[in-house]
Amino acid sequence: MTNDKGQIVSCPTCQKENRYHTDNPFRPFCSERCRLIDLGEWADEGHRIPGRAIPEDFNDPEADTH
Ligand SMILES: [Zn+2]
Repeated sequence: MTNDKGQIVSCPTCQKENRYHTDNPFRPFCSERCRLIDLGEWADEGHRIPGRAIPEDFNDPEADTH
């Protein structure tokens, strides 16, 4: 069966369901944040800073209060 919307996969970082599709540059992760977290897990092994897994430029809509 052809499905151009991609296959549903679970994000390796947060287990959230997302589409494994060329439209998702972070596949199989759900987002850039989860991809960076996972990359940091193995690339930075032994040199991890607890509590700093989330990039500072992560956009929290609630933080945007002008
Ligand atoms: Zn995720």
